[in-house]
Amino acid sequence: MSKIAVFPGTFDPFTNGHKDIVEKGLNIFDHVIVAIGVNALKKRMFSLEQRLQWIEDVFANEDRVTVGSYEGLTIDFCIEHKANFLLRGLRSIVDFEYERQIALVNSDMNRDVQSVFIMSEQKYSIVSSSIVRDIILHKGDYSRFLPNEVKVDEALRG
Ligand code: ADP
Repeated sequence: MSKIAVFPGTFDPFTNGHKDIVEKGLNIFDHVIVAIGVNALKKRMFSLEQRLQWIEDVFANEDRVTVGSYEGLTIDFCIEHKANFLLRGLRSIVDFEYERQIALVNSDMNRDVQSVFIMSEQKYSIVSSSIVRDIILHKGDYSRFLPNEVKVDEALRG
């Protein structure tokens, strides 16, 4: 049976830190689905279509990565896509405590889906989408935090 993992997040925007986790995930899993969780009540900097497109562009040459979006529970998305693994990245102890709670709740809801954590490379451990959004808002240089395919400049110019 092929090993399918879902990598869920908001990816607003998708960073080099996210990309690193997907690439490391491909060493373990046959297939990784990057899944954008949609919360209609939360305003994002970039549209869902834009975020989906960027992630597709980043992995255009990697057929073991697909991209999707979902509303509702991550665990339901996993079941729908026959994924037995939930992939998450860990940057710090702060991530750990948050992730620990989510993983325990998820495994309580469904024992067939196992959370797997991959530790961030040191150089990416300071990168977060929220910091990148702050740098964008204040017109700083965010380019080194983002994959080349994530063309924020173009998106902002409209
Ligand atoms: P969420 O909104 O659930 O926090 P994110 O899009 O911010 O979603 O992140 C999705 C996943 O990627 C989470 O597991 C998060 O810990 C991980 N992640 C985010 N940034 C990095 C990074 N720089 N290095 C490693 N993992 C990261």
